[in-house]
Amino acid sequence: MSFMQAARLHKIGGQFTIDQLPIPEPGSHDVLIRVVASAVIPNLKNVTTHFPEWYPFLPLPELPAIFGLDSAGVVESVGSAVNSFQPGDRVYVNPGIGCGQCRFCNQGDATRCNAYTFMGYFGFGAGSKDIFKRYPYAGYGQYMTAPCTSLVRLPDCLSFANATRLGYLGTAYSAIRKSQLRPSQSIMILGASGTLGVGATLLALAFGASRVVVVARDTEALERLRALDPHRIIAIQINEQPIDQQIRAYIASGVDVMLDTLGAKAPAQLSVEAMRAVSRGGRIVQIGGVAGPIPIDPHPFMCAQLQYIGSLWFTPSEGAEMVALFESGILDFSLLEQHSYPLEKLNQALEDIQAQGNGFTNFHILHE
Ligand SMILES: [Zn+2]
Repeated sequence: MSFMQAARLHKIGGQFTIDQLPIPEPGSHDVLIRVVASAVIPNLKNVTTHFPEWYPFLPLPELPAIFGLDSAGVVESVGSAVNSFQPGDRVYVNPGIGCGQCRFCNQGDATRCNAYTFMGYFGFGAGSKDIFKRYPYAGYGQYMTAPCTSLVRLPDCLSFANATRLGYLGTAYSAIRKSQLRPSQSIMILGASGTLGVGATLLALAFGASRVVVVARDTEALERLRALDPHRIIAIQINEQPIDQQIRAYIASGVDVMLDTLGAKAPAQLSVEAMRAVSRGGRIVQIGGVAGPIPIDPHPFMCAQLQYIGSLWFTPSEGAEMVALFESGILDFSLLEQHSYPLEKLNQALEDIQAQGNGFTNFHILHE
């Protein structure tokens, strides 16, 4: 039997330790991947420290557990029923998987499955415990198994390190699709300097938005975003002047689409203010999880025909669409600053990202 190294969490609030484990065998419809890179994200610390208390309804994998959300690597071997991938293929693993058997999974949209689960992160329902048992591997191990249906083939132009950003990018991608943004329309990205926000800005340009309104606190980050396309990007700073008034000074009728990427710690009042800048018939998509509640007054909401939409992650087929945008040069990640760590420095990486991470950094584990 051959062995691999994996960083595992043994207790909530604890540090990761490097353990030696047998390399798993893929099931008949699964693939074994040699992980090359896996994302280090700021929220992981919350998950491994606070989630059981904050969100007791979101199951974690049984400890000791391997974490590591967004992974990319090379197919090592495939199960007997797999013919779409071969050893040597470069892939991104979409960590979001469902039960595989309910009507939503059958429709190819596991994000709606009751048992939807992020391998190496957390789950959304009672069925997640079974999924964690079937797929206990993730990016902070040298090898992981995954259903072949969760893989996204990577073109050579997308490095393994940059592919670890496809999770956050995909979250924004799926949200923009759900917003039905059309070329020529305007979109506002609330929280544009964060990891979700920077990706959303790149995508809004790729989708052909006529105006991309980026809203953030940090002036330097706003300037960096504006430089991506000074003609189409309008930078709005969060300050004493209400966000909606600032935006309507540029676009009097308001924006067609608003993506809310603010995280749990941001004041919900900012979201409320920004929503007032959405035009009649406009759509607001929530992907950041700002701690609400957010008041919705039904009568004006009805009269203005507004829509408030929640969006979770993205499907493997949406992943393939994004990858095609990289392949054609419509999207590129050249603005990212790389921060690579070997597996044994994982605890350090999780510390460093709290202080140094922002929407332009790409913290990740690079396996040797
Ligand atoms: Zn399902």
